[in-house]
Amino acid sequence: MDQRDVVIIGAGGVGCAVARELSRYQLRITVLEKECDVAGGISGRNSAVVHAGFNNAPGSLMAKLCVEGNRGFEGLCRQLDVPYRKTGKLLVAFDEQDMEALGAILRQGEENGCEGLRLVDREELKRLAPGIEGIGGMYSPQTAVFDPFAYCIALAENALANGVDFRFGSKVVGIERGGGFLVTTAGGDRFACRLLINCAGLSSGRISQMAGGPPYRIYPCRGEYFILDRIADQLLPMPVYPAPRKGIGGLGVHLTPTSAGNILIGPSAEYISQSDDLSCTRPVMEGLFDQAKAILPALSRKHIIGSYAGIRPKLAPPEEGGYRDFVIREEEDCPGLINLIGIESPGLTASMPIARMVREIAGEALPLQEKEDFIAERTAPIRFRDLTEDAQAALIREDPEYGEIICRCQKVTKREIRNAIENPFGARSISAIKYRAWATTGRCNGGYCLTRIVDMLVKEYGMKPEEISYRSPGSELFAGEVK
Ligand SMILES: Cc1cc2nc3c(=O)[nH]c(=O)nc-3n(C[C@H](O)[C@H](O)[C@H](O)COP(=O)(O)OP(=O)(O)OC[C@H]3O[C@@H](n4cnc5c(N)ncnc54)[C@H](O)[C@@H]3O)c2cc1C
Repeated sequence: MDQRDVVIIGAGGVGCAVARELSRYQLRITVLEKECDVAGGISGRNSAVVHAGFNNAPGSLMAKLCVEGNRGFEGLCRQLDVPYRKTGKLLVAFDEQDMEALGAILRQGEENGCEGLRLVDREELKRLAPGIEGIGGMYSPQTAVFDPFAYCIALAENALANGVDFRFGSKVVGIERGGGFLVTTAGGDRFACRLLINCAGLSSGRISQMAGGPPYRIYPCRGEYFILDRIADQLLPMPVYPAPRKGIGGLGVHLTPTSAGNILIGPSAEYISQSDDLSCTRPVMEGLFDQAKAILPALSRKHIIGSYAGIRPKLAPPEEGGYRDFVIREEEDCPGLINLIGIESPGLTASMPIARMVREIAGEALPLQEKEDFIAERTAPIRFRDLTEDAQAALIREDPEYGEIICRCQKVTKREIRNAIENPFGARSISAIKYRAWATTGRCNGGYCLTRIVDMLVKEYGMKPEEISYRSPGSELFAGEVK
């Protein structure tokens, strides 16, 4: 049995941010994650927008932490070498009623502390985003887009460099109380800890109950998306959302350019019964495309290259709809259990302020002694395609593997795939390689590069084909040889 000061359950954006923040102090910290890599939950399935904070109720934790998160996000991404682009954002009005709604949103945003919000007329709308339809809108200059996979990976790598112990493939199945907590994983590992931090996203209600805390009910609410080709440069300079209408608690179907230049359409908002049902369904997807085309008429179905769904961990039941505030607290009846419940949007934007709030709570239970050798910076591996031709040529001279393209759609080289395979966590799934090197994410969906990556894993890293999974055990690519 391992004795730890802190166990964090969940390596999504929130768990990784908490781990990184607490790694500033002399604490023995373990992160337990059931998947085989970071960002296997909600943090890898969202709109990837750094929200400004005008959508959330004034006085709520959501509003406060989002505005604070937005202000610090660019600096954090610079420190951790994560793709980030301050694009600004438009909310579009289609009629006068929408314009009135936007006036109210603007006042709410100003009350929350958002900077630079302004209403725009049709002319300015067209100047900011030429292809967009509408009679006017609201412009938010502080909104940005980022890469949520790179964000989680960077936080976790930085926490690892500062001594945090990450255990992947470690599903928490039992928690006993008594002078702290004794946490058991499905593999039979046991960890004793003084503080237990529940960052389990959609499973956070169950984990709270397991630890002897309140039985929070989480209502899963699915959002489906289309992924479009890398056409944002030509069609969509910034995220464009419709003016908000009362609904079950999403921001409406929007169009978002990603940090890699693709366009996302979505998400829908639909309460579902199974928190692991990530299906993309035909009627919803049809509706998505039509709504997106009303905002950006130049869209064509030929641009679609993929789809995915993410699930909101809502505290608001379907009959209530809308948003309930984040719950972030040490449970009075269960000292030592810090619960983070209902962390839906804008949870990634707010993740670092959430982590600082957890640190404040933790500091009341544990002595927090700062490390003198805390490493604040982390460097991402080289992205060949972002370099100038001269820099590319120099790299190829230094290492010929930079001269061999493995993913043609995204121009990813063999050396970059190797760097991804040799990641500090030893994550060896296709998705682990995909989110680090960005291979398989192009128009051919891995048609060209997947076999080459498999070849490397088998011939150069000694894996059997049957051992290679897409994400986690259960998603193996090969059943066996046929000849
Ligand atoms: C459709 C959609 C769009 C969104 N858009 C945005 C946006 O644009 N901007 C923004 O800021 N936010 C957005 N969000 C919200 C944001 O994605 C979430 O708030 C955030 O990712 C939550 O992170 P998390 O770490 O709490 O949860 P998760 O990322 O789900 O992490 C929880 C982790 O716990 C693990 N876990 C669960 N049970 C166990 C167990 N028993 N043992 C061990 N591990 C366990 C899971 O595998 C998972 O990895 C969006 C969310 C959705 C659904």
